[in-house]
Amino acid sequence: MLFHSTRGNDSGRTFEEVLMQGLANDGGLFMPDTWPQVDLEHLKSLNSFLDIAKYIVPLFTKSSFADDEVLNILDKTWHDFGKDNLAEIHQLDDSKYVLELFHGPTAAFKDFGLQLAAAFFDQSLNRQNKTAVVLGATSGDTGSAAIDACKRFDSIKSFILLPDGNMSEVQRRQMTTVNSPNVFTLRVNGSFDDCQAIVKEAFSERSFLKDDQFLLAVNSINWVRIIGQICYYFYASLKITNYNQPLNFSVPTGNFGNVFACYSAHKMGMPLNKILVSVNENNILHRFFSDNDYSKTKVCETISPSMDISIASNFERLVYDFYAERDSSMCANFYKNFPVSPIKLEENMWNKSKDIFLSYCVDDISTIEAMKHTYKKFNYLIDPHTAVASEAVDRLSQDIQGKTIILSTAHPAKFPEVIKNANLTLEDIPNSLSVIFDNEERAYNFPASKDLIFDFITKNNS
Ligand SMILES: *Cc1c(COP(=O)(O)O)cnc(C)c1O
Repeated sequence: MLFHSTRGNDSGRTFEEVLMQGLANDGGLFMPDTWPQVDLEHLKSLNSFLDIAKYIVPLFTKSSFADDEVLNILDKTWHDFGKDNLAEIHQLDDSKYVLELFHGPTAAFKDFGLQLAAAFFDQSLNRQNKTAVVLGATSGDTGSAAIDACKRFDSIKSFILLPDGNMSEVQRRQMTTVNSPNVFTLRVNGSFDDCQAIVKEAFSERSFLKDDQFLLAVNSINWVRIIGQICYYFYASLKITNYNQPLNFSVPTGNFGNVFACYSAHKMGMPLNKILVSVNENNILHRFFSDNDYSKTKVCETISPSMDISIASNFERLVYDFYAERDSSMCANFYKNFPVSPIKLEENMWNKSKDIFLSYCVDDISTIEAMKHTYKKFNYLIDPHTAVASEAVDRLSQDIQGKTIILSTAHPAKFPEVIKNANLTLEDIPNSLSVIFDNEERAYNFPASKDLIFDFITKNNS
């Protein structure tokens, strides 16, 4: 199984190349050459999340790693989860379930993808006898999950840029209270876009790297993160219906990575009814699915900050695979002038959406209402991101049949301010989140200057 770019000018790549490179050379995103097909009868005989992962992950890695090597990696990959089965399923009523993906060390679902990425980064670096710098900008949960996943590996030094902005105090403290010699948290006096621009320049300049050193991207376009997420869709379907009925999944989304993992699981053979694309007021995806209007607007700050984006990077994969039916020149054309010109598909092409996708946009007031209502009705506290997905299920209930799974992407304790504003009370706080209030915050303060930041990385990259 090899990989190629959605834009047609980078192909024949191995899993390891895709892992270490992130974005394709032509600016597109990597895709597997074909969708590997699962044997559902075999999957039915499995039990744990790890069993499922040991079946799914090797379907993508054979071009670079022997299956035995992968199984060994997977035995050590997911660590510090509060639950043995990593993901828990909580039933709300006859037709509604919550898939809790927040039991990892950073209390958000990103631990699933980033711990898998870090485990493969380390394996690859060790066998090439090389080291790497991880550089990322974060406005929410990516930074803490990347730091936590990489800090145990001496082969990797992490530099994470935190913009001024809308993240919660818990989210910030998760990054500023890490005490590890290979982790550097930089508070940048600038916006998320300023930080991303610096990261982008870093990838073209690479001046601070030593010879033979890798610069790794941890953003959600890395295919390995999608693989880690595909596993929990197969796991949830097994536990809830044994693959005997198609399910609906409501996914609170920003960059479309988690939705694309659901779509991928379906393409690999998982029965599926509908995917609910649930967004906050940053509604580019909802405008696309409801109006065929994929146009960039300004980011607005919401109480579900991990979904505050202006464009949804992974959406390009859906344009390529689903709408353009893998015609890369068509996909490249759509993206040639984006975001200057919006993407608008031909009507018959866009109409295909209805086969699988529904979307809903939930504003902050309705998000708070959904949190209150879910607590009152089910005695169950959800975080604001999960509330967006839950509200979308209620609003779209006329259009969906059968059972629905709401993806719970963060633990409510990450957003105590919002819980308080909703007049709700946090009952349990995971251990990993309570300690961050005891530890001192430390971070390096920088203006939004790439030269100063690159100098800092050079100095600390020895
Ligand atoms: C990152 C994040 C999301 C959005 O995930 P995408 O894959 O970018 O759609 C949703 N909820 C939480 C809590 C997150 O951290």
